[in-house]
Amino acid sequence: MSVCDQSLPYVRAISPYQPGKPITQLAREMGIPVERIVKLASNENPLGMSPKAKVALEKAVGSLERYPDDYELKAAVAEHTGFGMERVVLGNGSNDLLDMAARVFLAPGRSTIFSQHAFAVYPLASLSVGAELIAVPAKNFGHDLDAMLTAIRPDTRLIWIANPNNPTGTFVPYPQLKAFMQSVPADVVVVLDEAYNEYLPPEVRADSKEWLAEFPNLIITRTFSKIYGLAGLRIGYALTSAAIADLMNRVRQPFNCNNLALAAATAALDDGEFVARSQELNRAGMEQLTAGFQRFDFDFIPSYGNFIAFRAGNAASVNEKLLRQGVIVRPISGYGMPEWLRVTIGTEAENLRFLEALEKTRG
Ligand SMILES: *Cc1c(COP(=O)(O)O)cnc(C)c1O
Repeated sequence: MSVCDQSLPYVRAISPYQPGKPITQLAREMGIPVERIVKLASNENPLGMSPKAKVALEKAVGSLERYPDDYELKAAVAEHTGFGMERVVLGNGSNDLLDMAARVFLAPGRSTIFSQHAFAVYPLASLSVGAELIAVPAKNFGHDLDAMLTAIRPDTRLIWIANPNNPTGTFVPYPQLKAFMQSVPADVVVVLDEAYNEYLPPEVRADSKEWLAEFPNLIITRTFSKIYGLAGLRIGYALTSAAIADLMNRVRQPFNCNNLALAAATAALDDGEFVARSQELNRAGMEQLTAGFQRFDFDFIPSYGNFIAFRAGNAASVNEKLLRQGVIVRPISGYGMPEWLRVTIGTEAENLRFLEALEKTRG
């Protein structure tokens, strides 16, 4: 008998997260020079990070012998969002916050609800604490909120919503989401994952302040990994009631966010110009890519994020042909979409490289 047989069965049931292929790995595998590779696989910001964040980062390198002090970033998030610091929780990436929510509210004997094709970390975080998963079939690739309400059982403690969702890019308009929140029992927590919130056009965005005032069972998570361009530093934040924030802080690892991440994120939050530039690049790139898909007759799902899912048919083969040309996109068969690939919106030149490579896969 192996010692691993003594491990928790619900941990053994987890399928490991599959990240986008790193540039260096493709370089090793296919002998393509790193500088010839275009990676559009992990929804990273093609502009890099805010110049202000870079300056703050370089300065913070000077005091890494000290344990982190997260006061400044918490204060900056509080100011940016209009909440008190007691309602802000910081995470080592927003995935860390999703984990905290699961550890506070889920356990064996409790169930949790998420949508088909929703972000992979929800089942991961839920299974790691032994909760039972309820996956609700999607509607037009997005969340079917009515079906998710119907799926609530007496033992359901937490519902996951990604808005916009990754990998489909679908978006539930806020009036619908509000009606949903009003119907969810007050003793069930809703985690609203807004990793792509900053990419939403202003006219569809909602004010979190009002939401949290109305729904004490709501946890909103945001990240510095996407529009702020700090994916490699691992930093995100949650907004919730002071009572839930207190509980999340109890399971949070002390010093979960490092000095460099804290410094860079504080500066990034203050760089509206960089965010605006990233939004504009994304808008233009979205047009460029969707025009390309239409030209080549590929189905795609209209997206509210910084990425687009498109129907490639034999996605594994198309993906392989793209890789051979040095273009990395993301297969999403693990999300129940075996015919689809997801491409991140890059710079104009990167988008063009992708479209040219895609065209060659059709020959
Ligand atoms: C990228 C992404 C995140 C962000 O994860 P981090 O841990 O903050 O890097 C969270 N949720 C969704 C849906 C995402 O796509």
